[in-house]
Amino acid sequence: MKFKEIFIVFIYNIIVVAIWAGLAVFFNAWWIALFGILFISIPSTIHRHYRICDSCGAKSAPADSAEEAIRVAEKAGWVHYDEGNRDYCPYCKNK
Ligand SMILES: [Zn+2]
Repeated sequence: MKFKEIFIVFIYNIIVVAIWAGLAVFFNAWWIALFGILFISIPSTIHRHYRICDSCGAKSAPADSAEEAIRVAEKAGWVHYDEGNRDYCPYCKNK
């Protein structure tokens, strides 16, 4: 997770909270602001890339970019085929 991505999520969360707080003030109902919580993003759950095995559906370790995800997966014994953008986990590559 890069600092820049955390910063973007931080700004996004402030905007989301500000919009819902604004609606709460506009309609004079404090509980509307609670809906803002539903739209707040947690940095670790976004901008994560991973490969999915085309045979069994297993997920590789997450990485910060699609290219890095392929590299991380290959280090863990996965096989990536550019043709068809296919991936196979260590268990399925020999089948
Ligand atoms: Zn597999």
